[in-house]
Amino acid sequence: MSALLVDVTPTDSRLAPTPRAEDGCFVYRQYIDGAFVDSDGEGWIDSDNPVTGTVWARVPDGTASDVDRAVRAATAAFTTGPWATMRPTARGALLRRLGDLIEQNADWLARVELQDNGKLIAELSMQMRYMAQYYYYYGGLADKVGGSVIPSDKPGIFNFTTYAPCGVVACIMPWNSPLPLTSLKLAPALAAGATVVLKPSEFTSASLLEFVKLVELAGFPPGVVNVVTGRGAVTGDALVCHPGIQRIAVTGGPEAGRIIAEKAARHMKRVTLELGGKSPNIVFADADMDQAVKGAVAGIFAASGQTCVAGSRLLLQDSIHDAFLERLVDFIRDVRFGSPADPATQIAPISTRPQFEKVRSYVDIAQQDGARLVAGGKPRAVPGFPNGLFFEPTIFADVTNDMRIAREEVFGPVLSVLRFRDEEDAIRIANDTEFGLAAGVWTESLRRGILMSERLRAGTVWVNNYRSTSTTSPFGGFGMSGVGREGGIAGMMEYLETKSVWISTTAEIPNPFVRR
Ligand code: NAD
Repeated sequence: MSALLVDVTPTDSRLAPTPRAEDGCFVYRQYIDGAFVDSDGEGWIDSDNPVTGTVWARVPDGTASDVDRAVRAATAAFTTGPWATMRPTARGALLRRLGDLIEQNADWLARVELQDNGKLIAELSMQMRYMAQYYYYYGGLADKVGGSVIPSDKPGIFNFTTYAPCGVVACIMPWNSPLPLTSLKLAPALAAGATVVLKPSEFTSASLLEFVKLVELAGFPPGVVNVVTGRGAVTGDALVCHPGIQRIAVTGGPEAGRIIAEKAARHMKRVTLELGGKSPNIVFADADMDQAVKGAVAGIFAASGQTCVAGSRLLLQDSIHDAFLERLVDFIRDVRFGSPADPATQIAPISTRPQFEKVRSYVDIAQQDGARLVAGGKPRAVPGFPNGLFFEPTIFADVTNDMRIAREEVFGPVLSVLRFRDEEDAIRIANDTEFGLAAGVWTESLRRGILMSERLRAGTVWVNNYRSTSTTSPFGGFGMSGVGREGGIAGMMEYLETKSVWISTTAEIPNPFVRR
C-alpha cells in the first residue's frame, strides 16, 4: 500500500490530479508533444519515500523508442509551428507567466518534492518560491542578448553577429534537487529559443511530471518541453546518442559525466556538465568563530550533505583546530531529526537507499584509513519512522588529504577535518583534488580573502559565507567538477550558437580571376 507523508494533490483547480492505481499509488506517464502518454515499454520504476520507506508512485521505465518520440516532437516544435517563429519578447512573456504559476503553486511543489526525495519542508518552501526567479530572470533576458556589428577590415562588407538557438537540448538531472536543477537548464534554454527533452533521475521523477502541468498551463506550445522518465543507461543513453539532440546539459555524478562526455564527443555535441565536488571550507585563526562554526555546519549538514557544493573538507588552522572541533561537535549534538514535513526538523533523511548504503560504507572506509570518528557515524532510529533513511551528522578528525574520505565525494552528512599551518599550506591542500566546484574561506582579513579567492581552483569561492547562489550569477566547476556554466548571462549563452553574417555593400563583387 502506498503511504503519503504529505498531501500532493494540486491546490490550483486548473491542474488535473494524477491518477492513482487500486493500491493507492500515483501512476505517471511520459509527457511528449504536449500530452501525458503511455510508454512504449511495459516496465515501471517504483518511487519510494525515504521517510516511510513505502512506494507511493510509479513512473514508466522508459525506452529508446520513448526518447525517439520525444526528440521528434521537440524537433518539430523547433523547426515548425508557433515556437519556431515566436519573437524573443513573446518567449520571455511565456517564461514570466510560468514564473507566476510557480510562485502561486510553490507550496504544492514543495510538498510534491518532499514526498519524492524527503528534503526539509523549510528548505523546499524557500527553494520553490525562489525558483520563480529563474523564469523571471531568463524571461527578462530573452530579448536582451543580441549580436554586434563587427568593425570589419574588409572594404565593401557589412559584418555582424547574431545568436541562434542551439536546437533540441537534452537535460539530464539528479535526485537531490530535481526541480531547481531542472530550472537552471530549462529557463535559459527556453529563453534562448531551444526546445527540450528532460530526463529526471529514476529515483525522483514524479515532481517533474507534476511541474510540467504548470508549463502546459503557462501556454508553451506542444513539443517545446517534453519529459521522458527511465534509467540512465537506457533513456539517458538514448538521449545522449540521439542524432536529433544538438546540446546536452547534465547535472550528476562524475562517472555518469565522464561517460556522457565521451559519447557526446563522438557526435560533436556541446555539453554542460555540472558534476560533483570535494569542496574545501577553510577556517583561519583570525576568523569570527561563531560565524565560521555556522558556516561549517551549513556547508556539510544542510540537506544532509546531499549537495554538490558540500564543504566536505574542513581545513582548520593549527592554532584553533582543537577548540573549533569541540565547538562544532557541540553545535550538532542536539540536532532534531524527524519528519521533513515538520518545520521544526533540522536533519532530513538520505534521499535514496543506495545513497544511504554509500554513506554507511564511507564511515568504514574512513576508519580503515585511520581517520578518527568524533561524532555520529551511524544510522539514527527516529520514532514513528522505522524505515526512515536517517543518518547522524558525522565528523572525522585526523584526516589527511591522501585518504579516500578526503578525495572521494560521499554526498552525505560526513565531514572530514584536516589541519593546515598557513596560507600556502591551506592553498596546497585545498587545490590537491581532482574536483574544483566550490570553496569557502573564513577570515577577518580582506587581503587574505581576496588572495584566497584568486588562488583557489574552484568555480565558486565564498568568503565568510557558504552555499550562497543566485540565478543572476554563473555557477560551475573546474576539473572533474564539470564543464560550462549555469546561471547568469553565461547560463543562457550555453544554449546559443554565434553566427557571423556578411553582407556586401558594393554594387559589384570583384572578378575572382582578376588579381587585385
Ligand atoms: P548520477 O550521475 O547517478 O545520475 C544523474 C543523472 O544522470 C540521472 O538522471 C541518471 O539517470 C543519468 N545517467 C546516469 N548514467 C547515465 C548515462 N550513462 N547516460 C546518460 N544518463 C545517465 O547522479 P545522482 O546520484 O543522481 O546525483 C548525485 C550527483 O550529482 C553527485 O555527484 C552530485 O555532486 C551531483 N550534483 C552536481 C551538481 C552541480 O551543480 N555541480 C548539483 C547537484 C548534484
